[in-house]
Amino acid sequence: MMHWILTFTWCILHLVAQSSSILIDKSIVDKWSKHDQQLFKSFTNKTTDLNGDEHINVLLENNRNWVRAKSEEEPDFFEKLGKGQAPKFLYFGCSDSRLPPTQILGLGAGEIFVHRNVGNLVPGNDLNALSVLEYAVAHLGVTDILVTGHYDCGAVRASTKRQDLGLLDNWLRMIRDVYRIHKEHLDQIEDEEARHFQLVELNVIEQCLNLHKTGVVQRKRMDVKEKLIKELYEGVENAADSGTILSQLLSMMQLARLEEEVIPRIHGLVFNPSDGSVKKLPINFNLNKKLDHIYGLYER
Ligand SMILES: [Zn+2]
Repeated sequence: MMHWILTFTWCILHLVAQSSSILIDKSIVDKWSKHDQQLFKSFTNKTTDLNGDEHINVLLENNRNWVRAKSEEEPDFFEKLGKGQAPKFLYFGCSDSRLPPTQILGLGAGEIFVHRNVGNLVPGNDLNALSVLEYAVAHLGVTDILVTGHYDCGAVRASTKRQDLGLLDNWLRMIRDVYRIHKEHLDQIEDEEARHFQLVELNVIEQCLNLHKTGVVQRKRMDVKEKLIKELYEGVENAADSGTILSQLLSMMQLARLEEEVIPRIHGLVFNPSDGSVKKLPINFNLNKKLDHIYGLYER
């Protein structure tokens, strides 16, 4: 019985979504919880042919519904939220409206610190992006930084066309620079869409490398690494004192895995708006190690 009710509700929601101006991805809607679907229903029902303040009133009503639903689901949710934040993740992503980070990564309020701009760039001279990075790494102590690009990115597409977009060109030039760095590889890809996909991925990777070049990331990783090495050597010494081969081996294994424990870790992700999937890109950070005599700010 419950199954039929849910199926019927989904059909109604689907029809409403099709008839409204709001595009809803079925795969995302499927994952929404029951109360999220109720919010969605109230939003879509009321946004057709609305004018002026009526739009913001729908959003405010959504907010009241969200507060009510969250309070019912977790009575002390807002009490905890009001006490501050301690997110594990820092997100750099494109401003594209199809990439709500909490939704596509299944996270909630207080779980991810977010910075978004056109083309998910992390320039070394952008006070805004760098301030977000500094605060998240040095003060919030995030453990993982996610640079998230996406296919069908308007910024990446625009940066491969001969067109004058005014001020925006100065920003998009950084993506053109990514193309220049990887020109030989990209020029060999004949299919335009495949070349776009590849440039999206290379742009994400270059932004990850940019993060590795910053002082705040290098400083934090060095401090954490030194602390871990100190703890591990103490562990090895204690194991040696205890004389057991097993405990010595365990300490040596921990030493070998040290690099994985050093934070903040940096990950390159790409979102595919056509199916909602997010994939992790393989990134060779050894490339930065080869350039350490140029970008390294500390003796290692
Ligand atoms: Zn984009």
